[in-house]
Amino acid sequence: MRLKLHWQIFIAMGLGAGFALLAGEKALIAAPLGEIFMRLLKMIIVPLILTSITTGVAQLGDSRTLGRLGAKTLGYYFLSSILAILVGLTLTNLIRPGVGAQLVGMQASPDVSQLQTSGSLGNLIIRMIPTNPFAAAAEGEVLGVIFFSIVLGFAITKLTGKPHEFLLNLFDYSFQAIMRLTRGIIRLAPIGVFGLISKAVATAGFGLFKAVGMYMITIASGLTIHLFIILPLLLLLFTRYNPLLHFQAMSSAMATAFSTSSSGATLPVTMSCVEKNVGVSNRIMKLTLPLGATMNMDGTALYECAGVLFIAQALGFPLTIMDQVTIVLVAFLASVGAAAVPSAGLVMIFIVLNAVGLGDNPGALMLVGTMLAVDRPLDMYRTVVNITSDSVGATVVAHSEGEKLTYPMTLDKRAA
Ligand code: ASP
Repeated sequence: MRLKLHWQIFIAMGLGAGFALLAGEKALIAAPLGEIFMRLLKMIIVPLILTSITTGVAQLGDSRTLGRLGAKTLGYYFLSSILAILVGLTLTNLIRPGVGAQLVGMQASPDVSQLQTSGSLGNLIIRMIPTNPFAAAAEGEVLGVIFFSIVLGFAITKLTGKPHEFLLNLFDYSFQAIMRLTRGIIRLAPIGVFGLISKAVATAGFGLFKAVGMYMITIASGLTIHLFIILPLLLLLFTRYNPLLHFQAMSSAMATAFSTSSSGATLPVTMSCVEKNVGVSNRIMKLTLPLGATMNMDGTALYECAGVLFIAQALGFPLTIMDQVTIVLVAFLASVGAAAVPSAGLVMIFIVLNAVGLGDNPGALMLVGTMLAVDRPLDMYRTVVNITSDSVGATVVAHSEGEKLTYPMTLDKRAA
């Protein structure tokens, strides 16, 4: 029987570390394996975002009702993701998991002109609009690609008949092809991780792993707070339904998310739990959940923010308040752009790194490699958070449309 991918990755990690300890500097011979893997991951970012966001938005449909449902759905996604990011931001600033993990000889250049975050929030929004979407794609300016994909998706919703169908299919089928490619690349993770870890250990030693341990604890605590406190509060606030009953209704989808690490793979189970156990209508379920699986990723959003703050702390890279605001916004966009497949969130972290000028920093790249090595358990957990938030969103929208849901018992009934 073939070992599961996450076990392969753990073993590759151990082998990489062992190899570096035995071979010392000579272990750097394996470094190109890591670099090739990283380049493959970066290679798919632009096509992945273009196809996933355009399809997600285009699938909103075009009638007025769909517009209203879409607005409510997107409003919930924005709210829940921003709350998740704020949890990540607060915890990372409190726990400071990266402090003390200074990478000898790898610190960020103190040259602050490297920072790309010129000026204000207004600037960030203006810079999001590409003057030439193809140039933005060619130069890997992902924010521009995201903006273009959103407006293109909207334009497609306005078309009817053949053109609508053709373009929707074109982007959807391309998206499926890119997903296949993504899965293929992720299968190479053990080889890539071996190269990345042997380089990390050969150049930075084990101090790094202590910091990564604190990083894992920080992310896991953030995900726990969001899953068991923030999401239940949102459900209570908007619907008065009992969160415990909601968790019970969603349990098989949550278990599937945990074992597949993929919101996309879990989607059929999420849909059937939301429709059969929660009682959301097929109409609302079908609109909100596929969109949510692609665009609403609270766990991923939290992770993007906390991960980049961790890297900046570990490198001793100073972040201004404006940088932190940028990180919050870009982490949200990155979570929207992340595909619903294993480790997609890790690929997206480059966007957030770029936004604060750490995209090409060798220390940052090495840390991302180390984070990849321990990513699987975090990925499993953030996927659970992602799909649970989707289900809360569907429930909130259904409730706001006057649907009576079929949980065994709501808080209101209990109180009566
Ligand atoms: N695996 C996550 C999901 O499918 C995405 C991520 O890597 O954060 O929801």
